[in-house]
Amino acid sequence: MTKVKCPECGGEFETEQEVLTLLNRFDCLLCDALLKVIEEEPLVLDVVDQDYLDSEDEEDEWDVE
Ligand SMILES: [Zn+2]
Repeated sequence: MTKVKCPECGGEFETEQEVLTLLNRFDCLLCDALLKVIEEEPLVLDVVDQDYLDSEDEEDEWDVE
């Protein structure tokens, strides 16, 4: 198990090494934020904003006439 720090809530929790592969996504055990591995060495995590992804899809529709 590897200890990681959630960039969303700042909490630390332990997770399996196998989920900490580059660009893999996993949920924070503490706040349920969706996290993504953007660097493996050193380990850097980023929060995947699911609401932002949804709104981005909606904006595409405005280009259709
Ligand atoms: Zn968290």
